[in-house]
Amino acid sequence: MNATPMIDAQRLSLMLNELRLPTIKHIWGDFAAQADKEGWPASRFLAALAEHELAERDRRRIERHLAEAHLPAGKTLDCFAFDAVPMISKAQVMALCAGDGWLEQGANLILFGPPGGGKTHLAAAIGLALVERGWRVLFTRTSDLVQRLQVARRELALESAMAKLDKYHLLVLDDFAYISRDQAETSVLFELISARYERRSLLITANQPFGEWNRVFPDPAMTLAAVDRLVHHATIFEMNVESYRRRTAQARRAGAGRPAAYTTPKVLETIRDNQDENDELASDNLNRH
Ligand code: ADP
Ligand code: MG
Repeated sequence: MNATPMIDAQRLSLMLNELRLPTIKHIWGDFAAQADKEGWPASRFLAALAEHELAERDRRRIERHLAEAHLPAGKTLDCFAFDAVPMISKAQVMALCAGDGWLEQGANLILFGPPGGGKTHLAAAIGLALVERGWRVLFTRTSDLVQRLQVARRELALESAMAKLDKYHLLVLDDFAYISRDQAETSVLFELISARYERRSLLITANQPFGEWNRVFPDPAMTLAAVDRLVHHATIFEMNVESYRRRTAQARRAGAGRPAAYTTPKVLETIRDNQDENDELASDNLNRH
């Protein structure tokens, strides 16, 4: 008399496998028993199973995204002391952590400041919060990514390597200004910035302000073009205790993290101002070789 339900259960297991519903396969027995005991309507039983399957699917997806994000361990918002960087608005960081708006528009976030100021920590913490909200993030040292892209270029696979990065809503480029550079390297970086422009977001951390980026891009025209694209839709945090006093009044008026529109002309000016100095540096380097 009990043989029929046994056979049905086995067949149901097979069907749930076929339908790729592992959570329902796992829980339906207990749920069915509870539903029978408590007299649930069939619709409630079905809805409960579907909800569990979806919740478990989300959990597994986030787990996968966390593994692929390569975030440095232990750098969370909970253990980030916002009072150590009073120029940063915690509310604004929390809003960015929702991801809506800026990631959809491919806008950027740029963290400046001297070493040890918490740029990497904050970038990783924002990345983690975004993954937990369902976004896809890749955290990488800029120099590592540049190397990977260079290899891809040599193998004539640069385009597909860039396309693969498209699946990430946010690419965190840590230590942007620390790349060991030659013309080919910086041009892959430039191509990456251009490829993501207004489509996919970048979070950049850098010890040097834009004015020094002529040292990242040896060609000043490329520096201008890269910075122009980066800041066009960007939030910029200056995690700089030195410049904190100078900037606080400004930041309070405009809200911390100025819109890039206010930054661009000044940025470009600074780059031009620094150009002569960098030309000198470049010729010094040439002389040394
Ligand atoms: P940066 O990338 O600016 O050089 P890091 O993020 O690597 O600085 O910070 C250096 C160390 O100090 C890290 O261990 C980081 O977790 C810690 N740290 C920096 N700022 C903060 C902060 N505001 N709250 C908590 N820990 C911080
Ligand atoms: Mg760092």
